[in-house]
Amino acid sequence: MVAEPLHRERRAPSDPPDAGSPDAGSRDAGLPDTGLPDTLPPGEELCAGPAIRPAQAPWALMYHSVDEYTEDPYRVTVTPARFARQMAWLHSCGLRGVGLGELLRAQAAGRAGDLVGLTFDDGYADLTRGVLPVLQQYGFSATAFVVVGRLGGHNVWDEGPRKPLLTADQIFRLHDCGVEIGSHGMYHRSLPGIAAETLAEETGRSRELLRDLLGEPVGGFCYPYGAVDAAAAAAVRDSGYDYGAAIAHGPLTGRWALPRSYVGERDNGLRLRAKRARHRLRGLRVGLDGEGAR
Ligand SMILES: [Zn+2]
Repeated sequence: MVAEPLHRERRAPSDPPDAGSPDAGSRDAGLPDTGLPDTLPPGEELCAGPAIRPAQAPWALMYHSVDEYTEDPYRVTVTPARFARQMAWLHSCGLRGVGLGELLRAQAAGRAGDLVGLTFDDGYADLTRGVLPVLQQYGFSATAFVVVGRLGGHNVWDEGPRKPLLTADQIFRLHDCGVEIGSHGMYHRSLPGIAAETLAEETGRSRELLRDLLGEPVGGFCYPYGAVDAAAAAAVRDSGYDYGAAIAHGPLTGRWALPRSYVGERDNGLRLRAKRARHRLRGLRVGLDGEGAR
């Protein structure tokens, strides 16, 4: 079965995606200088949905790369065979994988009971091979968080095996197949404690460039390394995003720091079930801690 694309209205970018990168000296293809105005045209902005209490945070899974591997020091890779079994398990449980934007909209409308968020950080090129056909097999979707200043490049922020990142054309293909495209910052910098100007580039500027590439507003931001503080969450909110994706539960858990469950090669159905239960428990606990603090 082939899933119907959820979005068909993407406009072509106004410039080719291989213009000069703002990252001088980078091997990455970069994005066009869009010359965008500082403010969005009327009607083009997203509206953030309602606040989300920790106990309400929906269950979402965090993947990175889905590929065969011999070396994976950061444990960011799941083999295609394991990934296919994990999706089959979700399907057998009556769950449907969707992107975080769709998940939050469904939750706000009270119809997210059988949904689980599927997210892929860093925008590895293997998404188009090991992931997309499996998503389509089950009628699932997902969110891919791409490092906007490094499209077509590599994961140069990590020591260790180099993995190619999605090109703009591959991003268009995913987007046309209904995959939500979100920002993972401009250069995959950790945001807590960085200068305001750099924070604005990683959050607001990356959103502008991605919006220009896709021809539509960008709702999702994902914090590199899952690292978020109050200033970073405020920058994401004020840049016009609809939500921010973090990893761990904590004092900021909510719409601007959504927790996600790490999924690795060892995760079978039993372990995923345990991670789902742990997600719920942590949401309750963080919510109670927050109540106590007030
Ligand atoms: Zn990342």
